[in-house]
Amino acid sequence: MAGTDFSLSGKKVWVAGHRGMVGSAMVRRLASEDCEVLTVGRDSVDLRRQDAVERWMRDKRPDVVVIAAAKVGGILANSTLPSDFLYDNLVIETNIIHGAHLYGVSKLLFLGSSCIYPRLAAQPMAEDALLTGPLEPTNEWYAIAKIAGIKLCQAYRQQHGCDFISAMPTNLFGPGDNFDVQAGHVVAGLIIKAHQAKVNGSPSMELWGTGTPLREFLHVGDLADALVFLLKHYSDAPHINVGTGTEHTIRQLAETIGKVVGFTGEFRFDTSKPDGSPRKLMDNSRLHALGWRAHTSLEEGLREAYAWYLANHSHP
Ligand code: GDP
Repeated sequence: MAGTDFSLSGKKVWVAGHRGMVGSAMVRRLASEDCEVLTVGRDSVDLRRQDAVERWMRDKRPDVVVIAAAKVGGILANSTLPSDFLYDNLVIETNIIHGAHLYGVSKLLFLGSSCIYPRLAAQPMAEDALLTGPLEPTNEWYAIAKIAGIKLCQAYRQQHGCDFISAMPTNLFGPGDNFDVQAGHVVAGLIIKAHQAKVNGSPSMELWGTGTPLREFLHVGDLADALVFLLKHYSDAPHINVGTGTEHTIRQLAETIGKVVGFTGEFRFDTSKPDGSPRKLMDNSRLHALGWRAHTSLEEGLREAYAWYLANHSHP
């Protein structure tokens, strides 16, 4: 039931995908809980290999599993690598969820994203908008895999009584993001471009698409906090949206990034690149009713992301 309390005290919590932006934020957040965090590198366990995953789970016996491992990417990567996004995500989540059932995991949290909803879903998008219409073509491969993950959690709950839950965050950003213009999401892409334009003294920087799509941006530290909250206080079949409730156009995002980075030039729009969904605003009422809200402002979060980029990447 929603509201049922689950204690992390003394538990072994496996964060699958701990090197990614979400997994690393989760490891940082769990440091202030009374639990033991388990991680394993890709070099020792390839999560796409069922035997390797099951052997590791049988040996380590985690009590709690957070599936932050996934093949992720921005609009360009997602639309140009369809088999990677579909196959890798399906097989990773299937291996871990089935292993969690086999080895008696008492709580599992599966992560997806707002792209599970139909392209033209009514806004804001409530959890029950799932499977009510066609998906956005630029990320349908990822979306299909993530919808299958939600259904796997529900199926194991229904058939075997497993306490497996799912959370669907909106567009994420923050420390540990993939700062790669081609493969990354918009926040990382625009931070790099604004920084390079500033350093090179360029009069303008390029944005993909028209700048008019609306997105909701959640700082990954807030997400990790929400996930710990859900592990402790949520136990039910429906997935839960995790967002801020505030949306911005891509142009507004670029303006705020310009301010944070110190880029004062113009924006050029490359309309040969896709816009993707016109709008993706989450309805966060279920999460709010449970008692959790985001607290980091966009500008504050962007300052942290830019500082992380400066500290962790070589640049011109
Ligand atoms: P989406 O939310 O799945 O569409 O993923 P993205 O974060 O990759 O893109 C969000 C929006 O930002 C889309 O409308 C993109 O066209 C737009 N955008 C503008 N400039 C960039 C950029 O440099 N990189 C990325 N990834 N998106 C950009």
